[in-house]
Amino acid sequence: MTRTVYVNGDYVPESEAMVSVFDRGFLFADGVYEVTSVLDGKLVDFDGHAVRLERSLSELGMGHPITKDDLLAAHRELVRLNDITDGLVYLQITRGSDGDRDFVYPAADTPQTVVMFTQNKPGLADAPAARTGIKVISIEDQRWARRDIKTVQLLYPSMAKMAAKAAGCDDAWMIEDGHVTEGSSNNAYIVKGNKIITRQLSNDILHGITRAAVLRFAKEAQMEVEERLFTIEEAKQADEAFVTSASTFVMPVVEIDGATIGTGAPGKIAPRLREIYLDESRKAAI
Ligand code: PMP
Repeated sequence: MTRTVYVNGDYVPESEAMVSVFDRGFLFADGVYEVTSVLDGKLVDFDGHAVRLERSLSELGMGHPITKDDLLAAHRELVRLNDITDGLVYLQITRGSDGDRDFVYPAADTPQTVVMFTQNKPGLADAPAARTGIKVISIEDQRWARRDIKTVQLLYPSMAKMAAKAAGCDDAWMIEDGHVTEGSSNNAYIVKGNKIITRQLSNDILHGITRAAVLRFAKEAQMEVEERLFTIEEAKQADEAFVTSASTFVMPVVEIDGATIGTGAPGKIAPRLREIYLDESRKAAI
């Protein structure tokens, strides 16, 4: 089946979708994005993603070219047209193009580019890695200083992921001033005793939508949560470690820089949080 994608209000076959070569998303990475997961044909945490999108646009002084209602309708229509049961909806909004290349932003009334597409991921919630856990390396965080804005400047996270693959691992945790910031495309956590430890929110990390939900569920389940800095050495000594993101939900980490975490298999807390998160997300999906 040919995938149908959304481009500026139109639903078109992916082979016919067009964006200008002068688009600032392409030339300057001048764009923001969101990824929303789909479970049982429904959108998980759509509201959270829509709110963060608004914030990303505002922080970059970009217009808001689509209303939340239209955004929701377009997400649902793409899920329907592409017959997605489990998968992802990717959304990107750029500052558009005024037909040339210039560092200076184009006039504020320049039409922005809004693109959406689906990714079909049957069994998204049953990833085998969730049963075994993943292995991560640590790597210096060389990204820019506004990681709270979800921009499409993803070259360094890609490099980090490639470094992890080259080391025979699955992902990388990034380190700044001796402390873990986050994973290449997820938020990072360690568990000591019954305490879940994760870096506090700031401009240094993306304010994960999954993070917010998981911490809320953890507190509701009477788990202790501490939002603070932690080092990679502390992480290596932890009882458990895990990451969260819209596409991986809660994913146990069982090895950091070759050091085994806990028993080397997922512990109690991360799998329990994954279960709660998936149950609650399915219930609340729209
Ligand atoms: N941090 C980074 C750097 C990310 O790229 C992502 C996923 N886009 C996350 C955290 C997790 O955010 P969310 O739970 O909203 O997917």
